[in-house]
Amino acid sequence: MNVLFVAAEVAPYVKTGGLADVAGALPVALRHAGHDVRVVMPRYHSLRQQGVPMTGPIGASFLPVGVQAEEQRIWRAAAPEGPLYFLDIPAAFERPAIYGEPDDARRFILFARGVMDAMQHLREVDGWQPDVVHCHDWHAALVINYLKSYYAYTFGHIATVFTIHNLAYQGQVPPDVAHLAGLHEGGLVEKAMGAGIADSFNFMARGILYADVVTTVSPTYAREILGPEYGERLDGVLRSRHDRVTGILNGIDTTVFDPHTDRHIAAPYRAEDITGKATCKAALQQALGLEVSPARPLLGIVCRLVEQKGLDLLHGIMPWLLQETDAQLVMLGSGQPHLQDAFLRWAQLHAGRVAVRIGFDAALAQQIYAGSDAFLMPSRFEPCGLGQLIALRYGSVPIVRATGGLADTVREGLDGNGFVFHRYDTGDFGDAIWRALQCYRDPASWAIVRERGMREDHSWGTAAQQYAGVYESARRLIGRG
Ligand code: ADP
Repeated sequence: MNVLFVAAEVAPYVKTGGLADVAGALPVALRHAGHDVRVVMPRYHSLRQQGVPMTGPIGASFLPVGVQAEEQRIWRAAAPEGPLYFLDIPAAFERPAIYGEPDDARRFILFARGVMDAMQHLREVDGWQPDVVHCHDWHAALVINYLKSYYAYTFGHIATVFTIHNLAYQGQVPPDVAHLAGLHEGGLVEKAMGAGIADSFNFMARGILYADVVTTVSPTYAREILGPEYGERLDGVLRSRHDRVTGILNGIDTTVFDPHTDRHIAAPYRAEDITGKATCKAALQQALGLEVSPARPLLGIVCRLVEQKGLDLLHGIMPWLLQETDAQLVMLGSGQPHLQDAFLRWAQLHAGRVAVRIGFDAALAQQIYAGSDAFLMPSRFEPCGLGQLIALRYGSVPIVRATGGLADTVREGLDGNGFVFHRYDTGDFGDAIWRALQCYRDPASWAIVRERGMREDHSWGTAAQQYAGVYESARRLIGRG
């Protein structure tokens, strides 16, 4: 099957979060399964700066946006196993930031327009067209809206799949953006759904409403977002399409995340021979100025420092953790300044027990997965979560709140692969850490839990099969396939 992937970030080119990992790895897994998958992403300033090799331009045009038109050129990269196209739209992407710009709506309208243009180019020049267009998150949502409206005549035979990686980021903007996009029904679509998003233009709502199939990144999150607690005010829109919504767990790139071959860590190890892990722990303690002690349990956390990740719970239990346990804590992340400051303060007050590094550092992240005994993810919500999957592979036993993909991948205790709490509550989080530390004191039990996690298969193969199934059903729904 021919599939066109549309995403605003794709590893290894540009990454700010889990979306990039998915958009980088899933096409590769689908190609292994025999599909012809091509990927489209913006050509950001950083790609030019890094000198990412690409050929072109292979096409050039002007994209409409409101009453203006902006220039686009299409470039082609030789991705590891297949074609990848960069849309070079200077008005939108020739600047340092990836997201968070005041004109994000205009930027990603241009991106969607650019994708339509690229599709026409691929058809006319390469003789290639997709059976399925698979769009990811709000940045790519308007591609589906355009396909099902203006381009219905030209591309009506193409099935569409929209994947929600994080419903919290929707691209909700003032209603007049509809004119910029040339989608003049304004807020009518949203109003028709009776959702609490009237009087706005919501990119993500349009992806959800127009896609033939909507997927999200875990079965539990797919259920959770149908209700008001996790629905981020789009639960009404989602419920109206509940028979089209399904959850598929993300995998991880097991060639990148492999403690047996990882060049960033101090010593290789694997489930059959774990001895190298102690070396990794000592190296991490040493590098971060913690007391070098094999016996002390070392807890790790690597994440964006934002509310979603449950950092208020962690902050709340720090006094208990420091007084009542002998655990050490290492944190890597960046995000909201008040959270950065709060944890830097703990590190300052308790150097030797707590180490905090602010920034994005892939190598240090892998050293933390390898060097820590347990990995914390007390998330308020978690669509899938890659952290716990990487932690499992590196034998860092996950301690998680049972939400979204965490609920689907981590099971409690000796019969499981980690430690799990349910209520969003400091006491319950502390109890879960306590149970983990009790288990840690009994090396034989700890080894059972840790090894079970290390042996699990979270590679992309299973997910790729499930996505191929979704593509088939999307095609059946439009009477193709
Ligand atoms: P999200 O997509 O919500 O950020 P995920 O757990 O799905 O969370 O994916 C986050 C990915 O980014 C993981 O691979 C994690 O290790 C990595 N990551 C997050 N913050 C950092 C950081 N500061 N440095 C290096 N890697 C990070």
